Amino acid sequence: MLRKPCKQLEFQHLNPMSLIVQKYGGTSVGDVDRIKQVARRVKETHDAGNQVVVVVSARSGVTNDLIARAKALNPTPDEREMDMLLAVGEQETIALTAMALHALGVPAVSRTGTQAGILTDPAHTRARIKHISGGDIQAQLDAGKVVILAGFQGHAPDGQITTLGRGGSDLSAIAIAAALQADLCQICTDVDGVYTADPRLVPDAQKLDEIAYEEMLELASSGSKVMQSRAVEFAQKFKVIFEVRSSFNHHPGTIVKEEAASMEDVVVSGVALDKNQAKIVVSDLPDRPGTAAKLFNALAAADISVDMIVQNIGRDSKANMTFTVPQDDIYRAEKVVATSFPDEASGKLFEANHIAKVSVVGVGMRSHSGVAAKLFEALADAGINIQLVSTSEIKISVGIEPKDAETAARVVHAAFGLGATD
Ligand code: ASP
Ligand code: MG
Repeated sequence: MLRKPCKQLEFQHLNPMSLIVQKYGGTSVGDVDRIKQVARRVKETHDAGNQVVVVVSARSGVTNDLIARAKALNPTPDEREMDMLLAVGEQETIALTAMALHALGVPAVSRTGTQAGILTDPAHTRARIKHISGGDIQAQLDAGKVVILAGFQGHAPDGQITTLGRGGSDLSAIAIAAALQADLCQICTDVDGVYTADPRLVPDAQKLDEIAYEEMLELASSGSKVMQSRAVEFAQKFKVIFEVRSSFNHHPGTIVKEEAASMEDVVVSGVALDKNQAKIVVSDLPDRPGTAAKLFNALAAADISVDMIVQNIGRDSKANMTFTVPQDDIYRAEKVVATSFPDEASGKLFEANHIAKVSVVGVGMRSHSGVAAKLFEALADAGINIQLVSTSEIKISVGIEPKDAETAARVVHAAFGLGATD
């Protein structure tokens, strides 16, 4: 059973004059034609009598290019200068979007993060928002203008430009929506919404009408990256209901909001696949207090984030520890193991392989049993071997051979009835 559509209802209650925040990502403002198209959509919303704040990203590829140039000049660029550089991408698109709106006869004005009073901590390239004054945005809206806000940027207490981490324009949009108490926040992107699985891998994946913040976060951490996770966390904290929708068509998207009782009827709302995991097995560890602490402290000190962990004790009273790390960190993780356990007697690296992680996510798992059994059975029927398992309240993940990943996603999706049109 799919969740009941609710958005039409919610959106019908919008006042004739509502304050709407629309965020357009890098692909949506990727070139001059796309910017024109965004301007036309913004004009429609504005013509309907709404106040509109538009948050834009840099054109797609621009931030990556800027980073590459910085690194070509200096492998460890100064972070303050990095932010000075990266903020340029969004500053280009706000001005161009304002000009495109002017060409359509829409009064519009651009604002940088600093001009919008987005105050952050001083942690350059990954700053956290501390406060938003909004600058003169409300006054500009009241004067009938569309305000175009640069995503991804703010300023530290000492006035220096900061950026909010990759994908940070999502956070800018959610945060300004919270600060202005917007009636609606739309994250306009290159997909139609949040799906039950990646439609490129699972052809009968369905768009979800609604999803809980927590599910969205678990799906993101399991490989379905639709939005910056920090933005979703911020929305959850400040109860900003938002919609993920396409910037290329007018189909309703997915509403992301607090968990509702009706959501519990659906046991699994989505299947996620992460093909960039590596599994590391350390064997012959001494079975005594402090062994795990030593290993995971060393990994934490190397800034390697560990996902699944399994430990078991053999009959010889030696422990085996299996854990997963992002694939990019596999060599660094191997090095940490080798230096933490330098001699064979104290533990040794037994295996380090790439694996894929398939996860099922749903708030309904809290109140339903048998989810793990159904997941394992679906994989068994497809002859797929499970190497490790981890669970949370609303997620079960399995580590499997990368070659089985896509089949696994499909059979699991089908087993939980997610492809049914109902
Ligand atoms: N331009 C920034 C990035 O590429 C921010 C964003 O796109 O949201 O990460
Ligand atoms: Mg982006």
